[in-house]
This record gives sequence, C-alpha cells and structure tokens, in this order.
Amino acid sequence: MRGHRMVVRYGLPPELVVRPRATSAQIDEAIDFHRSWLEQQLAKVVEPRLGLERLRLTEEQGRIEARARISLLAQSEAAALGVTYSRLTMRNQRSRWGSCSSTGALSFNWRLVLAPHDVLDYVVVHEVCHLVELNHGPAFWRLVEKRRPDYAESKQWLDDHGWEILAYQPPTVTLS
Ligand SMILES: [Zn+2]
Repeated sequence: MRGHRMVVRYGLPPELVVRPRATSAQIDEAIDFHRSWLEQQLAKVVEPRLGLERLRLTEEQGRIEARARISLLAQSEAAALGVTYSRLTMRNQRSRWGSCSSTGALSFNWRLVLAPHDVLDYVVVHEVCHLVELNHGPAFWRLVEKRRPDYAESKQWLDDHGWEILAYQPPTVTLS
C-alpha cells in the first residue's frame, strides 16, 4: 500500500482516496497505478433498467415507507418462527441489504423499498431466519427455503438489479 486506493461504486463516478497532503505528482502516480484495474471495472458497468432516475422519493419518505412494510413482515415472520428481535432499525447503506446481530437487533437498508415486494420480503425473511441460525450454513438455507421456497429468484434479482437500488440518490429538496 502506498496510502491510496480507488473505489468504484455502481452508478457513481470512481473515487480516488489519497493521503491528505498528497502532491499532484503523487495523485497522478496513483491514477496511473490504478488505471488498468479501473478500466476493467468501468467495462463491467451495465445499463440501468429500473428507471429509478425518474423517481422523486426522498430519503425521509423512503424510510417511513420501508419501516412500515418491513416491520409488518418482520413481526409476522418472527411470530411464525417463534422468535423475537430486540430492535429494528432502518439504515442508509451503500452495500448491505440487512443484518442481524447476535443480540437480535435487525437492521435494514431503507432502499429496499425500491425493490419488488417479493425481494423486500425475502430480505426480511432472510434476516429473521438469522434469529434462529446466526450463520449461512446449510441449516440456515434450509430454513429460508422452507419459509420462502422461491427465494432464489429474489436473490438473483438482487444480484442483477441491486446495484441500481444502492446507487439511487434521493432528491435533497423536499417537495411541498
Ligand atoms: Zn445472512
């Protein structure tokens, strides 16, 4: 490591992170260092298909909607499995859909509200199943499959389209 790194997030311009007092010669050198890797990454970027750029959903609206839908699903799924969670939090993340801590705290990415219902449902069921099996072992996946036999389709949808949702930039100005 020479104190710099290149970050590529789908839907956003590449970012070069350098030391605070890097000279422009060092920055040029860093760009040269990462150039071929960056070109490979940019070649992989695919066209957006969901039309999210036309949406005007603010983060606040999205969080309210996500919390309402997710907490309803989490409650009914937890009841069906006979488990309880300690808290449920909405997060603003650029890389994760949800998590379940060892203390039973569930957190979800509010951007899930932009996904089809079955996909949001799968992520909730996935995290609630972690209240039973806190790992991704065979027993965990058997439980997910028992609860949602078609879960693989939702998982595939996230692989194909999830990046578009993660890249969604809500408008910062609220509409009156
Ligand atoms: Zn998991």
